[in-house]
Parts: sequence; structure tokens; C-alpha cells
Amino acid sequence: MVRRIAPPGSQTSLREANRARLLDSLKRHGRLTQVELAGSTGLSPATVSNIVKELTASGILHTSFTSRSGRRATLVSLARQVGLVAGVHFSSRQLRIAIADATRTVVSQTSLPLALDHRHDAELDRLSMLLSDMMETLGGTVADLLAVGIALPAPIDIHTGMVSTPGLLRGWEGVDIATAMSARIGRPVYVDSEANLGGLAEAREGEGREAAASVFIRIGHTISAGLIVGGDLFRGVNGKSGQIGHVTIDENGPICRCSNRGCLETYAGGPALLSLFPAGEGMQRLSDLLQAAEDGDGSARRVIADAGRHIGIATASLCNLFDPELIIVGGELSAAGEILMAPMRHSLERTALGSANGLPEIVGASFGEWAETRGAIAIALDHVTVDADALEITA
Ligand SMILES: [Zn+2]
Repeated sequence: MVRRIAPPGSQTSLREANRARLLDSLKRHGRLTQVELAGSTGLSPATVSNIVKELTASGILHTSFTSRSGRRATLVSLARQVGLVAGVHFSSRQLRIAIADATRTVVSQTSLPLALDHRHDAELDRLSMLLSDMMETLGGTVADLLAVGIALPAPIDIHTGMVSTPGLLRGWEGVDIATAMSARIGRPVYVDSEANLGGLAEAREGEGREAAASVFIRIGHTISAGLIVGGDLFRGVNGKSGQIGHVTIDENGPICRCSNRGCLETYAGGPALLSLFPAGEGMQRLSDLLQAAEDGDGSARRVIADAGRHIGIATASLCNLFDPELIIVGGELSAAGEILMAPMRHSLERTALGSANGLPEIVGASFGEWAETRGAIAIALDHVTVDADALEITA
């Protein structure tokens, strides 16, 4: 269908621009009241009210009533029938998939273990089958998905769709992952790092909602961070901003998978922590370490606390350079809670430059192990275009 484009400056083009602004705001924030929509779009309450009425009648928006501080308010979101998107998270050891509607309500989700050193070809084939099965259970097909977002455990150059740093995810290097997956399912696919997408989810819907600048530090098998300024990611030129796991702690330290020596990951990454226990003690996965710590095992608690101390030192450098308002801790090891975060805070207080407002607070992620998947849903929704005039929804 050829879309008629209204001449710039005309009444029609202004109306189209206002509608687009309102729809973008809803994609970004999920549900908002009409008053909040006026605030986030800069449109007048009357204009917001008119557009909402019109788009609700077209079936693009859904309204409901809510009570905010004792006052009745109209809550607006994209309508469920706008369509479904999928969010996928390949972490180092786990695959998570969630299918959500345009209101970001998850309608189906699944999680499976991954072999260490997983490879793109086998995993993308498996993902295609899993998405087909999930969509079939929902009474549809993969063709009904508007878009798919994927989080990967490595920095991604979003311009090339490839892993941007060699050595960090060997089985996935040299491939345009979004294009490779899109070729399998015939739907648009968007890819970014797990730290970026976890950070995006927390900044938009979680702990970081109110923060002007926040850092999401993902601590698990690997260690990385997502940097968020004003609700948007700061990716750097090659997508490798926030690689805190490869900050040098000791120049003469152990060899890292990135080929440098003494990186933070060689002291506080999952394999480094597990290697501290004698073989035969049953410490195979981070979940074993977390369980032992929860059961009160002193050595398990000590190992996690030492990791927190090391990560806190690297976090202090990051704070000196980036000056965030809030630090959000996610990833598998964040389930250790204060065993990990209290020593992080202590190291940060000892080593970061002070400021009049004090140091950034360190808090756990709101979405736990599903933060990255929620971020993947968010980038998929960001790319969905709702064409109000043609009632045509494309991605
Ligand atoms: Zn390294």
C-alpha cells in the first residue's frame, strides 16, 4: 500500500506528527494516564484527549479507568490486538523466551538450560522451533509476530548486527545475528547485549524509572554493564560501552578470555568463583554456589562477598567516569542480595570520588532473571510502527 504523505506544515501532517508522538510515548512507557501522556509528549491535554478518542475508536489504543491519589484518571495503552512481539535472552547458560502483547503483558514464556559455548547456528534453529511451538499454542504462527528482540551475552555493534569484540562469544562471531534469525522466521529481528537490554528494562519500567542516569551491572557467568542516560542507552561507537568485566584489576593477573590479563572477570566472573572450590564439592553452576550461600555455607558466602568487593572497586572507577545517579545490580549472582551488594557498597565508598549528593545507591534489579528478556521485548516494540491512518501495523 502506498501511503499518502501530507505536505510538511499542513494540518494533516501536524495531526500525524502528534499521533506519532503519542504512540511513541506509549511504546516507550507502556501504560500512561492522559495527564502523564500530555507531560511526556508536550501536547495539550485537549489534543491528547482527541487523539486518544480517535485511536481508541480505530482499535489502536485501549483505555481503562484508574484511581490515582484518590482521583479518577483515564489510563491509556496500546490495544492488545495491535499484535504480539517476542523477547529472547541467550545468557551464558540459559535461554529465556517471552511473548508479549502491545501492552507488554507476557502471554507465554519459557526457559531452558544452554550448553556452555553455545553456537549461533544450532541455537537460532532451536529458537525458530520454540517460537513456532509457542505461537501455535497461542493459536497463531510465527508470521503473526510483529518483531523479535534478542539479548546476547556479548557487546553487539547494532550497525552490523555482529558481536563487536573478539573472544567474548566465540560461537556467535562474524555473523549478522539479526539478519540470520530474520532469514529463518521471516520477521524483523533486533539484537543487543544482555547488559544493555537489562538496563533498558530497568530504566523504562523498573528501579531506574526516576533516575536521570543509571548503570545496570550484570553479574553472572560474565560481568558487564549497560549505561542509560535520560531513558536511552549509551552504546558507544562500537557497542562496547560498559564492559566493566574487562577492567584491569591486576596487570600480572590470570589470562582472560579477551586475551588481556587480570580483568575483573578473572576474579569475580562465574567460572573464577566456581574454580575456587575443590572438584567434588558439587559447585558446577552459580545456582550451586547461591544455594550453598543461602544454606549458610561460610566459604560460599565469603567467595560471593569477595566478588562484591572486587566489583565494587571497578564500579567506583565507572562512577568516577560516568557519574550515575543509581546502580542496579542484575544477573544470576544478584540473587545473593546483600551478601554481594553490601561489600560492593563498602568498596564503592572507600574508592569512589565523593560528591555533595553522596554516592549512587546500589539496588537489586526489579525484574530479576527476566530483566534482559523484558528489554528485548522493549526493543522489539520500539521498532513496531503503528500507522494510524492506514490502520496498518508494520515492523
Ligand atoms: Zn578480559
